Amino acid sequence: MNKDDLIVVTGAGGFIAGSLVRYFKEKGCLRIRAVDKKPLPLWYQRVAGVECLSLDLSQEKNCRRAVEGAAEVYNLAADMGGMGFIEHNRIECLRSILINTHMVEAAYRAGAKRYFFSSSACAYNTELQKDPHVRALKESDAYPAMAERGYGWEKLMSEMFCQEYWAERGMKTFMARFHNVYGPNGTWDGGREKAPAAMCRKVIEARDSGRGDITIWGDGTQTRSFMYIDDCTQGIDMIMHCEQLIATPINLGSSELVSINDLVGIVEQVAGVKLSRKYDPTAPKGVAGRNSDNTMIQRILKWEPATPLRVGIAATYRWIESQYRDRKAGKRTVD
Ligand code: NAD
Repeated sequence: MNKDDLIVVTGAGGFIAGSLVRYFKEKGCLRIRAVDKKPLPLWYQRVAGVECLSLDLSQEKNCRRAVEGAAEVYNLAADMGGMGFIEHNRIECLRSILINTHMVEAAYRAGAKRYFFSSSACAYNTELQKDPHVRALKESDAYPAMAERGYGWEKLMSEMFCQEYWAERGMKTFMARFHNVYGPNGTWDGGREKAPAAMCRKVIEARDSGRGDITIWGDGTQTRSFMYIDDCTQGIDMIMHCEQLIATPINLGSSELVSINDLVGIVEQVAGVKLSRKYDPTAPKGVAGRNSDNTMIQRILKWEPATPLRVGIAATYRWIESQYRDRKAGKRTVD
């Protein structure tokens, strides 16, 4: 990558793309344009020296403006959240197809050299995820397709757009299927937060209120793997600059499989508490089990996300704790 090339990152007012902007800035990239539909004061992170635009990228003309002069485009903008959000807002999730459809065309017309799309493990066939003791999902498991309704189908269709922009028009496209990403600067309250942030917040609330209990969605046996944000940003960079991965979706996730009960145990350890657990079987819980098969990423990149969950949760817990304190003190926070 040439340090003077213009990099465009969308969704940059949110968690992962905001961290990606910081990552590229710290790496020495000189020209970065960050775009999100949120008004600038609501962005989770603002990085000095980065051009920031507030644009709704579901509109074609805004996508054209966003990519003017871009050499590389990272499209992470999407209307998304944790299980509670994607199970109840399928239309909103599906409508994110407008963003990628216009973004990939605009990037092509602007002559961008590379285009990245953030796909998801929700694109995988749900029939393969009915048992907590799952076989880890490998890239070929997306087809025959039976993706998560709404959110997963949007990701699968957008992957197909990216593949065809390479096949028919020769633009180099790259796609990573993220498996649950967590870390500081992510949503931690309000309904869009994902399990690790939600568990940290619930433990903090239980300690603060002296209540001593925690409510877990489902029966807690559902299994997942969780990737720390620093592994995610590094992985995006590596995938985007690997010629072998052109138009080839690849898993970007941790392969450290834990149950939600295990996750709560890790958060309790970090917090130094033991809470009594209540279970809510009526709450959204997603598939029974999901893990990332990292054979392909190890083979091609000689690398995989490796931050231990215990280490990543400790950093995340400390950050959410400080957010919680700030909110109580009436300061503005991320949520
Ligand atoms: P996030 O909600 O924190 O960030 C997404 C950002 O996109 C938000 O700031 C939102 O305002 C912006 N956005 C939504 N609609 C837009 C529009 N029309 N125009 C411009 N901006 C718009 O989510 P995140 O966790 O940072 O996720 C980033 C990407 O990674 C998404 O594409 C998501 O589907 C994908 N992903 C995330 C995870 C995860 O665990 N966080 C897992 C799989 C895939």
